[in-house]
Amino acid sequence: MKGTVLYGPGDIRFEDREDPKIAAPTDAILRLSATCVCGSDLWPYRGLQPIDGPTPMGHEYCGIVEEVGSAVKFIKPGQFVVGSFATSDNTCPHCLYGYQSSCMHREFMLRAQAPFLRVPQAEGTLVATPGVPSKDLVPSLLAASDVLGTGWFAADAANVKSGGTVVVVGDGAVGLLGVLSAKQMGAGRIIAMSRHEKRQKLAREFGATDIVTERGDEGIARIKDLTKGIGADSVLECVGTKESMMQAIHSTRPGGYVSYVGVPHGVELDGQQLFFTHVHLHGGPAPVRRFLPKLIDLILNGAINPGKVFDLALPLDQVAEGYRAMDERRAIKALLRP
Ligand SMILES: [Zn+2]
Repeated sequence: MKGTVLYGPGDIRFEDREDPKIAAPTDAILRLSATCVCGSDLWPYRGLQPIDGPTPMGHEYCGIVEEVGSAVKFIKPGQFVVGSFATSDNTCPHCLYGYQSSCMHREFMLRAQAPFLRVPQAEGTLVATPGVPSKDLVPSLLAASDVLGTGWFAADAANVKSGGTVVVVGDGAVGLLGVLSAKQMGAGRIIAMSRHEKRQKLAREFGATDIVTERGDEGIARIKDLTKGIGADSVLECVGTKESMMQAIHSTRPGGYVSYVGVPHGVELDGQQLFFTHVHLHGGPAPVRRFLPKLIDLILNGAINPGKVFDLALPLDQVAEGYRAMDERRAIKALLRP
């Protein structure tokens, strides 16, 4: 088969690779229905995160089970499954506390921008749908694999409550789905921070009630204006830069909650400054597996349509164009069809 490999900044190649094979009795092999490019893939693509030689790419996936190892009992060939970017046994103490992305047997997935994929810990990582879903649901189910699961965790970790005021920092796919998640959790007011017209429109469609285009100190001042000088109950930081983190912390009311799900790059916090803000901080790689059964239900019932974040669909062999389009912010998120 062919698969996606990053050789260096801006150098994505779709090239011959070995077909994945069952390597452990707990593995499964999937034939992917769709995969995509993640915002976090752009860090190494832009040369902002070093790579150790040619690196196979991709960690978002859904598809049909082709083959399973001898220890896999409940995931069966022919099933349609969705998995997380982090594998989990779903039985260790961290998993049982709901932090499957810190599983004692965790591996971060790679190699998913390809037609076939080996998934370790298949039984604890994958969730099967009741039947094979119709094609129009595939983009939304793919979104559940990472961006929706991460947006949902962002809202959950920021303690979004019915009637609460929520701010979302970041208008990438995760931020937009953080808006959708906050709406589902009953937020009364959802303020999306975005200066990009197409993304503002989608944020409104997903439930944003206000849009703030200012950033930094001006952005914080605007949030204070909109909340009678108090600050928001819940703030979702979905970027990962120092500026966005500061914007999130200082937009939150004393006693409020900040979640952070953007992989941090150059974020440093001043202890004393943090001390006097009085905010709760909770984030990290989203335990998507915790939320997958619920998210799959919401998608299959037609309650949510997170697949709308894919505004570009390409054949998998044009993956390099998917990276370019997202890098240049011509696309919010690129779906790839094997
Ligand atoms: Zn575990």
